[in-house]
Amino acid sequence: MAGFELGVVYVTKDERRVQLHELSIVFAVVRTVERLAKQNGLTKIDTLVLQIGELSSVVPRYIEECYPAAVHGTMMQDTTLRIEMLPGNAMCKQCKKAFNLIKNDGRCPDCGSKDCEILSGKEFMIKEIVAC
Ligand SMILES: [Zn+2]
Repeated sequence: MAGFELGVVYVTKDERRVQLHELSIVFAVVRTVERLAKQNGLTKIDTLVLQIGELSSVVPRYIEECYPAAVHGTMMQDTTLRIEMLPGNAMCKQCKKAFNLIKNDGRCPDCGSKDCEILSGKEFMIKEIVAC
């Protein structure tokens, strides 16, 4: 079922579903940025900076792949996309140590507990719009 769409070869059904998830997010971002640009009298945007948490359901690679198709024909056609990753940090509820969930496989590196509170990493936001 592999075929070309938005320059991406879909390998599995899951891959396609995930890709569409990111595509709708990118479209929403483009609409938001265009609205903000209009409100602020901007006609051209040099760079768009997105922040994506390590623990969010958004896959940065897919965002980058969807981006050119989403901005095609819009005022953001020449806008550079920059993605900043935010670490997925948590605090251990047992010993109160803060640690990175991804690097430590979801376990506190000090006491081994999996009982923790997520502090950051679920974000997805427009951090900055740089005008030309
Ligand atoms: Zn701990």
